Amino acid sequence: MAATRTFSIIKPDATRRNLTGAVTKMLEEAGLRVVASKRIHMTREQAEGFYAVHKERPFFNDLVSFMISGPVVVQVLEGENAMQRNRDIMGATNPANAEPGTIRKELAESIEANTVHGSDSDENAAIEIAYFFKPEEIVG
Ligand code: UDP
Repeated sequence: MAATRTFSIIKPDATRRNLTGAVTKMLEEAGLRVVASKRIHMTREQAEGFYAVHKERPFFNDLVSFMISGPVVVQVLEGENAMQRNRDIMGATNPANAEPGTIRKELAESIEANTVHGSDSDENAAIEIAYFFKPEEIVG
């Protein structure tokens, strides 16, 4: 099967605790290759735009505030069935429900400060990659 790409964010709870290497190691050990990566501090407008699908959800404002509370690392990941592979290694949204060995079970602080974002479909992966990266910034 051909390699596909997905989009990942190492969230502010992880950059604050100096866990970007630990997260990346787990992604790499799950068979994903980091083909683009940059550390950024999102503006409120950027975070609101990224999470626009959640605008009506009760947690939206808190989520945006959390995502701009510190730097994040945005990444493009490549591998066989990259989107699903990344969702599997991330674990459930709420770390209390995540499987042992997943990033969220091992590293996350709470349902909000849950260490990583990962695209939930190939279609969203393409949209989210394009939100943060120019094609020439991705080196496969
Ligand atoms: N989130 C939250 N409270 C909730 C559900 C979600 O703060 O009750 C946050 C959490 O950081 C999560 C993000 O909103 O990662 C997006 O939620 P989604 O349901 O898309 O979960 P994910 O795809 O990240 O597992």
